[in-house]
Amino acid sequence: MNIRDIFDQKKLVFSFEVFPPKNTSPIKNIYKALNELVKLEPDFISVTYGAGGSTVNNKTTEISSLIKNIYGIESLAHLTCISSTREQISDITERLRLEDVENILALRGDDNGTSCGDFKYANELISYVKGNKNFNIIAACYPEGHIENRDVKLEIDNIERKIECGVTSFISQLFLDNNTYYEFLEEVYKRNIKTKIQAGIMPVINAKQMKRITELCGATIPLKFKKIMEMYENNPEALTQAGIAYATDQIIDLSSSRVDGIHLYTMNNPYVAKNISKNIGKIINSINEVQNV
Ligand code: FAD
Repeated sequence: MNIRDIFDQKKLVFSFEVFPPKNTSPIKNIYKALNELVKLEPDFISVTYGAGGSTVNNKTTEISSLIKNIYGIESLAHLTCISSTREQISDITERLRLEDVENILALRGDDNGTSCGDFKYANELISYVKGNKNFNIIAACYPEGHIENRDVKLEIDNIERKIECGVTSFISQLFLDNNTYYEFLEEVYKRNIKTKIQAGIMPVINAKQMKRITELCGATIPLKFKKIMEMYENNPEALTQAGIAYATDQIIDLSSSRVDGIHLYTMNNPYVAKNISKNIGKIINSINEVQNV
């Protein structure tokens, strides 16, 4: 079943993201995390695509295949295009097709200004993959605008462009303030866009993640969140507990506001995913039961 069909069946789709082990680490390093994550029965698991080199990217295909064919859970393979030629993209999509991986998260990737690939923007990759193979294509969106362009109206132009190219749903960049997400959705609905959007939630449990958030995506840091980080930054156990509680609170609010789905950036940490899933399991079941009455 591809992810488009899951959206047809469920009121609230709940999924996870994992990343492949680093180039120098064996692929089996992900098994321990996956063994635990699959027990939580997410609707699908996505696998990120590294910017650096073929080994990492072969791992994306291999892990996506493992999730689908061994663990029996739908998988979503991320794919970036900024440094790739058409032939390289065709090679990867062919491998995904052979492994029966049906869903691709089509991305541009981060532009360091030195790229000499065949693609400039994600919409070009979406059209290319859509034209060549029979994949279900998903794309990224940015509730607070993309870091290179903070204008949310232009971001929604880009969403429309991606839909025209064949995208069936979106996963959002992480955000820490649900109000920014609701304001973004309001703008999306004003344009009469009906394509499903999953809210990207990252439970923040250490300073490294905090740095990543501020540097990579420039998400607004609410005062409430800042206070929590400052209070517990030197106590990892307390920070983990606070991070789980903060993400849980965000998800309960989003679910009650009837968003289309939640995508949890697990950072390969089953302990965090397990605790959040436990906190929200009954809520998600209750929303999906209403759908199926
Ligand atoms: P695009 O949609 O191409 O947008 C990039 C910028 O160009 C935006 O500012 C947009 O407004 C502008 N733009 C787009 N199209 C046009 C156009 N036709 N004309 C003019 N301007 C245009 N990165 C990885 O390397 N690996 C991953 O696995 C990965 N997974 C991600 C998952 C999610 C859910 C998200 C939100 C991001 C992920 N990223 C990943 C990061 C992503 O690659 C970066 O955010 C990247 O900078 C933008 O990718 P995009 O596909 O959104 O680009």
